[in-house]
Amino acid sequence: MSFKDLKLNRPLLRAVAEAGYDNPTLVQEKTIPLILGKRDIIVSAQTGTGKTAAFALPILQSLFDRQDAPKKGKQVKALIISPTRELASQIEENFKTYSTYTNLRTAVVFGGISIEPQKEVLKKGIDILIATPGRLLDLHKQDFVNLDYVETLVLDEADLMLDMGFIDDVKKIERLCTKEKQVLLFSATIPYKVEQLANSILTNPERIEVAQNSSTSKNVNQLLYFVPKKSKIELCLHLLRNTIKGNIIIFRRTKYGVDKLEKTLLNNGYKADSIHGDKSQTARQDALDRFKKGDVNILIATDVAARGIDINNLDAVVNFDLPNIPETYVHRIGRTARAGNTGMAYSLCSADEKTYVQTIQQLIQLQLDVIDQHPYPLDPKAKPIVHKSKKTGSKHKKGRKSEASKKKKKRWY
Ligand code: AMP
Repeated sequence: MSFKDLKLNRPLLRAVAEAGYDNPTLVQEKTIPLILGKRDIIVSAQTGTGKTAAFALPILQSLFDRQDAPKKGKQVKALIISPTRELASQIEENFKTYSTYTNLRTAVVFGGISIEPQKEVLKKGIDILIATPGRLLDLHKQDFVNLDYVETLVLDEADLMLDMGFIDDVKKIERLCTKEKQVLLFSATIPYKVEQLANSILTNPERIEVAQNSSTSKNVNQLLYFVPKKSKIELCLHLLRNTIKGNIIIFRRTKYGVDKLEKTLLNNGYKADSIHGDKSQTARQDALDRFKKGDVNILIATDVAARGIDINNLDAVVNFDLPNIPETYVHRIGRTARAGNTGMAYSLCSADEKTYVQTIQQLIQLQLDVIDQHPYPLDPKAKPIVHKSKKTGSKHKKGRKSEASKKKKKRWY
């Protein structure tokens, strides 16, 4: 699906294209049509899924026809409530980006800074207001905000809002707006108290859930390096020298690759061990014990060998080779950032692995952060190297293998 399919107008499409968005994310695909259809919605989606644009774009689209009201005559028609200042500013930045080619005016108000400049901005007239609950009520009490014209109320990060004790403020704000408004509730999780709040202020809401896979990814800083295949080892060494610290697991696709990398790291003075399917159970166990005890801080593994073993709480996961199955990527990076800690994931992508990045991003509903400042960049025009095997025309029928050849077949993992 493209943004055009979502029936957004040209000024918005232009801004979205300039922001570098190619296609809508899943949460955008699902919510934008419902919001344009004036439905109330409950969306469980986390930061990083593109949820801000999921409500900002349809709000801007709906207000676009009335964008030319004289400045002073502008009334707050969309109100976004956010629990924290940082989030509120982030939302405002998003609205400003998407509304570049419109005359719609946005402002943000939050506590902890002087209220006077905020009063001045409000006096000038705005269409969209982003606010934290306390400061909004303060400004309303002093008569600087009129909520009589609010058509859409967004509660962002509702679970956090309630955890922070804003429930009464939120209910009060809702009552200050008109009865007919549309309410959009976004929350990373939907615990009972969010459900209760939704029941009391939403009308016949549609529910949208975005894959929980992204929950693993949420606390992991995911960096992507495009690099020629032949330079991966150099880049890996460069990152280990300068960037990656602590307990690290490096994933490779094949046992041959694992062995090769292990040799290189040992030759370069790193403390590394490895596990793969060709190693005996005791050798694998030894490697794991050495890693867990801290005798080595780098473990190199194939996915199959690492499956089911308890190596978590890592500082970093390195995807030396990208997996062709996107779920494998999620499992790999899930080994870092456990128990609410932030983890790091470094993915090295050669020209022939680019399609894997696309499927991974689709699954996790996140864009990986591309790092281009490194010594081994991949020429963007580089084509995947295709190894063509010569057709010799076997005299044997396809699919018929001798017992000897079957026995010789070695495991690659
Ligand atoms: P959010 O979940 O709203 O915090 O957004 C996470 C990040 O994704 C932000 O940096 C957005 O700029 C970006 N983003 C939002 N929508 C898209 C999209 N359709 N394509 C690419 N990036 C997006």
